[in-house]
Amino acid sequence: LYDRDGWIWHDGEWLPWREARTHLLTHTLHYGMGCFEGVRAYHGARGTHLFRVAEHTRRLLDSVHALDMDVPFDAGELIEAQRQCLTRNDLSNAYLKPTVYFGAEGLGLRAKGLTTHVMIAAWDLGDYVSPEAASIGLRALTSSWSRHHVNISLCRAKTNGHYVNSMLALNTAVKAGFDETIMLDPEGYVAEASAANVFLLRDGVLHTPEITSCLQGITRDSVIRLAREVLGIEVRERRITRDELYTADEAFVTGTAAEILPLRELDGRHIGGRAGAPRPDRPIHEDSVTAALQALYRRVTRADLGD
Ligand code: PMP
Repeated sequence: LYDRDGWIWHDGEWLPWREARTHLLTHTLHYGMGCFEGVRAYHGARGTHLFRVAEHTRRLLDSVHALDMDVPFDAGELIEAQRQCLTRNDLSNAYLKPTVYFGAEGLGLRAKGLTTHVMIAAWDLGDYVSPEAASIGLRALTSSWSRHHVNISLCRAKTNGHYVNSMLALNTAVKAGFDETIMLDPEGYVAEASAANVFLLRDGVLHTPEITSCLQGITRDSVIRLAREVLGIEVRERRITRDELYTADEAFVTGTAAEILPLRELDGRHIGGRAGAPRPDRPIHEDSVTAALQALYRRVTRADLGD
């Protein structure tokens, strides 16, 4: 990943990709206190644009504030840097990772005088999964690891350290032969996937967990708005139990990188199937709400509907 051409934005300067290094005593490396975003650029009919970059940048600055960090750049400057990151690296379909971290001025939890740094790296990203995989969907395992609790961490902040929990859950599921994991909150209600929000459809109504243990996903918000405003589907944000996912008519996960991916199986139960029915590994039905939302999301992201 590091031995390649390109430019990384760092505190307002451009570093050649290979020289974008940091000190081994960088505080965030030791304690995980930092935050980041995952933003996507699409090449649409009228050129390249960053999808919902204002919302991503706002969430980044909210994370910074919630963690009681401080950055010397405002939203406008960070958005401009993200735009320049695309042009400098000659990218059109891309993934960007703005990250805020503490410097190496001190170690320990009581370290004083730490400087805060911002970096933005971007790389080429076409389709995250193949069209076949996006249609056939994921087999997931409910995790034995709980997702964060509001009084253990700041669930709205996209904190680097949060992803230890995501990786424990995802790695366990992947080692057991699954594609993804569904994590429950500490009380046992459905929270989210390892790095994506989750939705289910039952009797024509969409349901998604309320934002307590899960991240306030921007794709989640796009999907809620598309469902309500374009498809006229009711969406309820509430507590959801895992058996509701087992017995859903449809289920899917949402995220900037993954976009909208069907959940075809959870804990060995075929979602959308009924007891005794066969479990086909076939593409989701073109009349499904999941397929309709995928198509809409594709149109919205690839059309230049704005940042
Ligand atoms: N939950 C977690 C834990 C994530 O890492 C992500 C990806 N950022 C999401 C949900 C989805 O959020 P978004 O749609 O904003 O990418």
